[in-house]
Parts: sequence; C-alpha cells; structure tokens
Amino acid sequence: MRPRSISDLVDLMAPGAVELVGDPDPVVGPDVVIDNRRATPGSLFVAIPGERVDGHAFAPAAVAAGAAGVLGMALTDADVPHLLAEDSVTALSWLARGLVREARARGMVSIGVTGSSGKTSTKDLMAQVFEAAGPTVAPVGSQNNEVGVPLTACRIDDDTAYLVSEMGARGIGHIAWLTSLVGLDVGVCLNVGHAHVGEFGGVEATARAKSEIVRDLAEDGWAVLNADDPAVAGMRSATRARIAWFGEGDLPDGDLRVTARDVRLNALSQASFDLVVLDPDGERSAPVSLAVIGRHQVSNSLAAATAALAAGLELDLIADALSSASPRSDWRMELHRRPDGVLILNDAYNANPDSMAVALTTAVELVQGTRAEHPGARVVAVLGDMLELGPLAAGLHEELGRRAADAGVAEVVAVGDLAGHIVAGAAAEGVPARVAARADVAASLSLGPGDVVLIKGSRGVGLETVAADLAGGD
Ligand code: ATP
Ligand code: MG
Repeated sequence: MRPRSISDLVDLMAPGAVELVGDPDPVVGPDVVIDNRRATPGSLFVAIPGERVDGHAFAPAAVAAGAAGVLGMALTDADVPHLLAEDSVTALSWLARGLVREARARGMVSIGVTGSSGKTSTKDLMAQVFEAAGPTVAPVGSQNNEVGVPLTACRIDDDTAYLVSEMGARGIGHIAWLTSLVGLDVGVCLNVGHAHVGEFGGVEATARAKSEIVRDLAEDGWAVLNADDPAVAGMRSATRARIAWFGEGDLPDGDLRVTARDVRLNALSQASFDLVVLDPDGERSAPVSLAVIGRHQVSNSLAAATAALAAGLELDLIADALSSASPRSDWRMELHRRPDGVLILNDAYNANPDSMAVALTTAVELVQGTRAEHPGARVVAVLGDMLELGPLAAGLHEELGRRAADAGVAEVVAVGDLAGHIVAGAAAEGVPARVAARADVAASLSLGPGDVVLIKGSRGVGLETVAADLAGGD
C-alpha cells in the first residue's frame, strides 16, 4: 500500500473497526506483514493469534526490524502506535477492503479465480498475462484463504492496474466473504471436482460454494465459466454478470467465447494451440506455445486468456504472454531431467482424484515422448494419500490404483495410510504395485533412461522428499 499515516488507515477501515492507541501521525507502509521475519522499515505488523504461537509476542521483534505500527487484539511491548480490534484477521480484511475500494475507484480491475484444481497454476498464468499489460498484484504461492487473500490485496499500490486473487473454499460462504473484500470485476471458475468433498459433503455442495465467485458480480462484471464442466456451466444462473465461456468442446451462446483449436503436445508435454476468440465482432485467433507442462494447462490457459479478454486486454498480447509464462509455484508439475535420462515429474504439492488423473495422463504422455529414443521407457507412479476425502476415501484410493493401471503406468509405489487401497486397485488390473515407506522409495526403484517417475500426493504426505532423494541420485 502507499505509505500513509496510521490515522489514515483507521479511516480506510470499517467505522469503529479499530481503536488507535498512540501517536496518530507516524507513517506506515508500504508493507503489511504477519511474520516478524518479513518486517521491513515502516511496515505494519499484523499480530495474529495462532494455534501454537501468538503473533503478539513477536511485535517487538517486528518493530526491531523496522515495523512502524501494530494491528492486533491487545497492546504489546512494542513501542509504536497500535490499532486494536476484536479480531486481527477481520481487521486485516477491512484494511484490504478499504485499499481495494480506493484502487477500484481509480480504475484497478479485480480478478478472482476458484475451482477444485488448478487455481494456483491458472493464477500464475494470469499474473504473467496481466503483468504484460500493467502493474499487477498476485499472490505468491497458494495464498487463497481468509488471511492470504487480504494480505495479498494489501500489496496494491497507487499504480496497480490489476489485482489477481486465488480463492479457496472449505465451506459455504467462504468465497462470498473473500469476494466481499476484493469486490471482483471478473470471477473465474475452473472446475468442480472431488477436492475436499469430505468437508463439503458432496459435489453439489462444492458447486454451490464455488458459485459464490460469480454471485455478487455486478451486471457489467464478467463471469468466466468453464463450458466443459457441467457443474461450472450451471453457474450461469447464479449471476447477473455477463458470461464469458471457455472450453475445448462446444461453447454455449455468450458475450465472449474462447477456445483452443488444433491442440498439439510436444515430447515434453508442452501444448501448442490456436487461441480462438468468438465475440460479437466475429472470430479472431492467435498462436500459443506453452512453456508450462501438461495437457491440463490448455484449459488453465483458456481460463486466463478469457479473464484477460474480459478485462480488455489485447489478444496478441495475451497469446505472447501465455507463451512466455513460466511455472512460478514449486512442486506443481516440476519436470527434472537427470543426467542419466530419467525424468522426474514432481507434483508433490497436493492431490485429489481429479488432479491425480491429470498428473497420470501427463506422465504417460511424457513417456510416449521419450519412447522415440528409449523404446522400453516406463512410467513409475509414486502415489501418496489424497487427504480430506471423508468416508469416500478408501474407494477413491482403490479407484486411483485402477486409473494408474488403465492410464498405462508400469509400476505403482504407494505411500501413506491409504496406500493399501491404491495397491489393491492397481494389482487388480495386473500392474505391479507395492506399499513403501517414504524414506525407502527412492532407493527401491530401478530406473533407466527415458523412464518417467511421477511423484504426487497430498501436502501432508510430504512426497517432495522423494523427489529430492531421486533428484540427488544423479
Ligand atoms: P490448492 O487447492 O492446493 O490451492 P490449486 O487449485 O491451486 O490447489 P494447483 O496448485 O494449481 O491447484 O494445481 C495442483 C495440481 O492439480 C497440478 O499440479 C496438477 O496436477 C493439477 N491441475 C492443475 N490444473 C488442473 C486442471 N485444470 N484440472 C485438473 N487438474 C489440474
Ligand atoms: Mg492453490
């Protein structure tokens, strides 16, 4: 945010939201931080009580690093003005809302993306597209919750032209809350899948929660919807906004329609296609060659392109920016080629049934590419538990094992409490499969040139260590 006096911050927030204790004049900004190790000269330190540690205890350390004000729930030992609120996260949210309101009034465009899979991947593409058009603020990594969204929004400045927000939902009302803070002009829904079905209690409830991304858009806003996913397409009735469709299949009537024609994958599973736009002016297209990996990035690119077109960006600029976009967030489809010719596809960041299916397909497409040179090359899938699936978990893990086999995986190594179910599914389809402890996986594999090792599981399983072990075994 633009540095300003701490009393100006009080005015930006909801009336009565905070009480200022101390001198009203000191200037705070530009940074707003919740971690004292990130405090910079002039920053506002937001003290959040956590499960294990209370941020208030770190206020003096933040001030020692230069913080000029504290936003919290109680006075601390830090000798700077304090903004006191009933709840720190809510107060941070009011601050973000005030900053966004101010920026939108001068023309900043606010874009939000949700979906069960691909939010961060799409957000990273979008960020690089919007950056090509003007100063853009977008989250680092996967900051998509009630802390990460406002914290990201607090980074907007007087010259920010675009704010991109990733929005995750763990229940009804979550996305509505986030959109109330960043007041979307463009709301994008990628897909509704099985992610977190355990918490939501079903795909329909998940769809309802995700539809909040378009519910509160104004009439002149844009709902960017995936025409290929029926649960997303159904959201057209949940909004007053204009509809922009993206998809690779048939596109319904709409104000703006975007598709990919002539999709090709190279040996590294990077897609090229013609980005085609159909709008009242007719049909236009521009060639795109992605640097990011996997067939699923076509859909993510279409989502990013559609949001950008809705925001008024030029087609050629969008196609060029997509083509030069690089992966920005770790452990998502990170491809590492060892000197011995083994390819490691590290997708250990997270997993749910839908993203597992996508990753298996990508791994098999990759090996098809390497077989030109190494005809015997195989895919070994190191699969970890998919967490948060509730009572459906056992069946979905068995299904995963079967899917891996059907996709063409040659060997399955399963890690975690539900590994037995994955193995049972794969073995039932006649594919060699075994349970292994995470630390033993790397040493237990026998690999040759051209082989692809896919590594994927939920965050809590920690399979990135397997990727590190394998990469170290050059
Ligand atoms: P989270 O809920 O953890 O924030 P996310 O929605 O941000 O997840 P990403 O981190 O972008 O998702 O992607 C995670 C993995 O999901 C990717 O590495 C890939 O395997 C898969 N994935 C990405 N895009 C799609 C898509 N459009 N459809 C299905 N799976 C996808
Ligand atoms: Mg994410």
